[in-house]
Formats: sequence, structure tokens, C-alpha cells
Amino acid sequence: MTPAARSYLDHNATSPLRPEARAAMLDVLDAPGNASSVHGEGRAARARLEQARGAVAALFGAPKSGVVFTSGATEANALALTPALEIAGKPVRCDVLLASAVEHPSVMRGHRFPDGAVEWLPVDGEGLLRLDALEDTLARHRAAGRTALVSVMAANNETGVIQPLAEIARIAHAHGAVVHCDAVQAAGRIALDMDALGLDMVTLSSHKLGGPQGAGALVVRHPDTRAATPLIGGGGQERSRRGGTENVAAIVGFGAAAARARQGLEPEAARLADLRTRFETGLHARFPDAAVAGAGAPRLPNTICAMFGRIRAETLVIALDLSHVSVSAGSACSSGKVAASHVLSAMGIEADLAAGAIRLSLGWSSTERDVDAALDALEKAVPALRARGARAA
Ligand code: PMP
Repeated sequence: MTPAARSYLDHNATSPLRPEARAAMLDVLDAPGNASSVHGEGRAARARLEQARGAVAALFGAPKSGVVFTSGATEANALALTPALEIAGKPVRCDVLLASAVEHPSVMRGHRFPDGAVEWLPVDGEGLLRLDALEDTLARHRAAGRTALVSVMAANNETGVIQPLAEIARIAHAHGAVVHCDAVQAAGRIALDMDALGLDMVTLSSHKLGGPQGAGALVVRHPDTRAATPLIGGGGQERSRRGGTENVAAIVGFGAAAARARQGLEPEAARLADLRTRFETGLHARFPDAAVAGAGAPRLPNTICAMFGRIRAETLVIALDLSHVSVSAGSACSSGKVAASHVLSAMGIEADLAAGAIRLSLGWSSTERDVDAALDALEKAVPALRARGARAA
């Protein structure tokens, strides 16, 4: 018996490897060569690496020399979030880090900023940064002679809500701040031009756009922008911004995935938006009491955070898994206690709805069949779990 086909709807966790990335990686896996070596093999590795750098830079309209390859977005965020920067070759000291309350945990940590120098900015009920709070906070720090580093994500990983980046960067720059953006979920899904948006530094991750895991990048608008001290010092790789022999195969796969995502961006975004509408229409028809987080805000075409009251997301995720549908819970579970997602809490979403939030994230491999399978599985699981919950209560 052939195993039942699975519907993988968790592209925001990891998108399956694109065939173009796989082919490019296989091509280099058997080739020896350290990109720093001067011989033919080394030069071949360097050429592949530089081709990938060009493809990643092109995603943001950035200069090729602005790309620093890292082990992933967590490391790129850690590299960017430092009080000691150099911008256009000049030292810039950032006294405070201002980040939105819905950032990924790898930004929330604040990294090289001391604890007291990190402030979280509120979002509204749709998950959009409160621009009045940004403006007031920046004005307060500026009046006290403090320079800020503002870090706001392009699109949220749980809800897909897209932040008004151009407006945020305009306000931040008007107050002399530096702007960093975690664009992990938006890269390759919506068009982002660093210059047009006014972003000084951008983080991205290979495995969210169909490249392999374990590669990412920090991209800077001005090639002479850098953390004054690298996180990992070493042999001077990446123009002394990140030491260590480059993972050529992973970076080449990353570059191929970035090129593929950019090439088909608009038609693919339209296709995914149609699938999202198909899901949401089916959801509301079957569950009139279900809600979608951030539904009133601009959202990525691929992400749906569906909230069901009177149910635990963790149990629902398991039930869907048994029906061959892979999604993730919108809430985090630690030490046996279920904590509401910090994103949904920051949006002021009621605890019962937030506890029953699941995230479906679509991507290049998703089809109508996957969306319909998810709806059918939900139709089966939600009433059954609610009935079980009611009996246990
Ligand atoms: N930022 C965001 C918004 C993310 O969604 C993720 C991955 N969940 C990361 C950063 C971390 O990426 P990586 O796995 O490449 O470290």
C-alpha cells in the first residue's frame, strides 16, 4: 500500500528544498575547493560563492558587496544587533535597541545590547507597529542624546502581517536612528528594495525561501556598514565580517533558491493569495466562530493564523498530523505549561482564541489539494476535540 500523500503547510518553519537549489548543490558537493584558495578549485568555489552573493543581493536591490553570509538568520540578527556599528565607514554608537513586541525570539534577545538598553514597542490589534509610539520613544531618546537602533521585521512569522517599513524607516532616520529589518519571512515572497524602503541592514534565511538549512545572510545597504566587532573572528572571510570557511554548497543552494524566488515572485504571490483565499473562505464557511489574526492588515500571501476558541492548538496540530496535514501551533509550549504566543498577546487577542491558534504557511510546493486536505482535516478534528474537551471539563 502506498503511504497517503501528506500536505506540508509549514513553509514558515522550513520550506522544502527547491529543485533548482538541490541541483546547484549537487553540482558543487563533489567539487573540492576552499573559496579562499588561489588554485583552480579554490577559484571555482569562489566564483560559485560570488554568483550566490549576487543572487541574494538582487532580492533586495542591494550591492553585492553588502552581503555577509552567516549560518542563518539567528546569527545574522546577532551580528546586526550591536551597539557598536560602522556606517559608511564611520563609527556609530547605538545606545538603545528599539524592537517591535512581535519580533522573532532571535531579535527579542537583544544580543550585544545590555538588558537595560532594549525597549519593546507596542503593536495594534492587527499586529502593526504603533507609529506614534515609535515616534514618541525616538523623540525621548533623542532629547536625552541617545542614538537608537530600530529593529522591525518585514513580515511576522506567525501571522504574516507586513509592517509599514518605508514609514518606519522614515521616522527612524528623521530621529537619527539606524534601521535593521528581519526580512526572513518576506524575502522572496514580496518585493523588497532596501534603497526604496530606507533599510540600513536586512536579515534573511536560506531555508525559508527553499534553500538548505544552515545558511543565511546579513545584507547592508551601504557596503561600508558593519558591526565594529565581528561575532566570529577568524581567517578574514566575508571581508573580515564573519570568520570561518564558507559553506559553499549551502550558500550555492541559497543563491539558487533566491534567484528562483525572485524570478517568479509576482505570479507566485498571486497564486498563493488565491490559495489563501480558498482556505479562508472554506474556514469561515465551516467555522463561523473562527478568526484569522491580522486579517485587517496587509499580510504575506502565504500565511494564515487561524484561531479556534475552546480548543488547544497543540492537540489540534497532532490531530491534523494524524490526518497527514502538517501545520504548527501559534502558541509556545515550555516546561509542560502552554504559554500564549507573545505575538498574539501583543496584539491583545483574547487568551482562549490565542490558545487555539494554528499557523498554516504555504509555499512553492503547495496546491489546492493541500488546502482542501487541511479544511477536511479541520472539519473532522475541531468538533471531535471540542466534544472531548467539553466531556473532560
Ligand atoms: N526571524 C524570523 C522572523 C524567523 O521566522 C526565523 C525562523 N523561524 C528566524 C529569524 C531564525 O532563522 P534561522 O532558522 O535561519 O536561524
